[in-house]
Amino acid sequence: DTAVPLPNRHQDRTVAPAAGPRGTFRTDQFHNTQDTDPSLAPNRLWAREVLAAVPASDAGQALVAEHTVRSGDQLDALIHSAVQAAPRWAALGGAGRAAVLEDAADELERRRSDLLEVMASEAGKTLGEGDPEVSEAIDFARYYATLARELDDVDGAEPVPVRLTVVTPPWNFPVAIPAGSTLAALAAGSAVVVKPAPQAARCGSLMVETLWRAGVPRDVLQLAHVDEGDLGSRLIGDRRVDRVVLTGAFETAELFRSFRPDLPLLAETSGKNAIVVTPSADLDLAARDVAASAFGHAGQKCSAASLVILVGSVARSRRFREQLVDAVTSLEVGTPEVATTQVGPLIEPARGKLLDALTTLGPGESWLVEPRRLDDAGQLWSPGVRVGVAPGSVAHLTEFFGPVLSVMTAETLAEAIALQNQVDYGLTAGLHSLDRSEIDTWLSSVRAGNLYVNRGITGAVVRRQPFGGWKRSAVGAGTKAGGPSYLVGLTGWRSCPSTA
Ligand code: GLU
Repeated sequence: DTAVPLPNRHQDRTVAPAAGPRGTFRTDQFHNTQDTDPSLAPNRLWAREVLAAVPASDAGQALVAEHTVRSGDQLDALIHSAVQAAPRWAALGGAGRAAVLEDAADELERRRSDLLEVMASEAGKTLGEGDPEVSEAIDFARYYATLARELDDVDGAEPVPVRLTVVTPPWNFPVAIPAGSTLAALAAGSAVVVKPAPQAARCGSLMVETLWRAGVPRDVLQLAHVDEGDLGSRLIGDRRVDRVVLTGAFETAELFRSFRPDLPLLAETSGKNAIVVTPSADLDLAARDVAASAFGHAGQKCSAASLVILVGSVARSRRFREQLVDAVTSLEVGTPEVATTQVGPLIEPARGKLLDALTTLGPGESWLVEPRRLDDAGQLWSPGVRVGVAPGSVAHLTEFFGPVLSVMTAETLAEAIALQNQVDYGLTAGLHSLDRSEIDTWLSSVRAGNLYVNRGITGAVVRRQPFGGWKRSAVGAGTKAGGPSYLVGLTGWRSCPSTA
């Protein structure tokens, strides 16, 4: 174990949700956890200790070895055991499960250092990106606990927990997303099998172990490192599975459906997200938010800004471009164990579409900031910004999932919105404008799930910005993670005479 959390961190900052009187929303008692404040000297010392442990870290490795599924029989036994355990978990009721989730929130807080260490060492997460991610996982635990308590109060139809949910998280938020999906399914009363992304196997394992330590029974919550070949398709296709929660590429959702056509899937999938900047905008703020949204975690977020669309005089003048160049070139690129790093490495060497996007230009395009490869492996790249991107081009429509941003231009706001809506996905979208009527027009015409005005477009906050998209950014019953209806799709419902 690495550094011990300091007494001035986190404690006393969150208010435990109290049970409200019947009829009030218990989510009103929810408070978001605060991130570690780096302006406090003790926290900087703590951060230094965490980062010092990163290069030699093998945290979670033993769990990966122990929970790797090697045969169909082993997989079968694990599913069987989860299904057998489910009724016992469901019988706790919403309030009983909520109490366990609240303990999980505390345990996640206690293990903040360990989780940050493994996120940096295995997934290349900087502390600046990882710390809010741990906070988000804690928020999910406390928020879904409040929803679980409310499930006990539903009138008219009766929530009946499903037995088994399979959670297949991505590697880009290797703690918050597996934690969020798992905690939601547990809150709804289901047993869970978590299959972490292979690139972030240690992170997922440590997250699961944290929930076990908090009191979630090991048969109710099963950790399964499963090969994405044959055993993976068996797990997804198994008819004992009542729900699959996927966060990943749109194509993965289609693949899952091919394993089982009637798959009850809740999937948050790809994005190709744009920020529009109009002449009324605070351009300094816009340049900063665009750079942060495009290049945080090296652009490896479904929510990342991949396009910026400049309107009218912003498109014609040099000023915004110069500000953007300044904002982008001043980002520190490096490895995560260096405290000042803002843009870390890619999870794997760039290849395919992303490598093309970093090394070649389409017709009429040029580099405003040319990306550079900074290591031999091809994992560390300085951010790239291309201009002259044509409507309908590859750079306009394709998700690259890396540190490359495309600049487009439009005469009017309406034209910018049309470009924004032309993509197949609809996850996040941003507008920088200080004009009320522009804001209203934009809000009523953008087709995306998470809209942000005069703010970056990543880092959705639990309860305040429930997360999930439209179009090809969601497949199945795509409700919003961290929002009031998220447990609905994870629950079975029935109407019977006594409640009708
Ligand atoms: N919820 C994250 C955010 O708002 C993105 C999650 C993802 O990349 O899937 O930035």
